[in-house]
Amino acid sequence: MGVGVDVHPFASGRELNLAGLHWPGETGLAGHSDGDAAAHAACDALLSAAGLGDIGGLFGTADPRWAGASGLTLLEETARRVRAEGFTIGNVAIQVIGNRPKLAPRRAEAEKALSEALGAPVSLSATTTDGLGLTGRGEGVAAVATALVIAL
Ligand code: MG
Repeated sequence: MGVGVDVHPFASGRELNLAGLHWPGETGLAGHSDGDAAAHAACDALLSAAGLGDIGGLFGTADPRWAGASGLTLLEETARRVRAEGFTIGNVAIQVIGNRPKLAPRRAEAEKALSEALGAPVSLSATTTDGLGLTGRGEGVAAVATALVIAL
């Protein structure tokens, strides 16, 4: 089992990419990559479960290869590394924490995109914090994820 958390602040002038989807008309998230906090939390959960460190170690901001990389690309590469270590990926669960975007109408679409990138089931849920904290004030989006990997 592994756990991952990620947070990115909203930034005007950026496109929003979250949970493997593009969200037209929504404020984007800042970041060295595309700012997809949900995909990044999933990567960290997978690396945590496999004992491979964290996303900062694998896709460091000093490495220009990953500048602007999509969350789905990072998830694919993370899955490749985890499997290269001999693990089978069981599943990943992600919860997004924030006021916007409203994930429910596109949850199935996001789960499909994330699951295809991972090559294993990804479930997605969402919550708010009743106006408290950085997500409640609308300053950004947070995500928490767990991953199950099996050593064969
Ligand atoms: Mg991130």
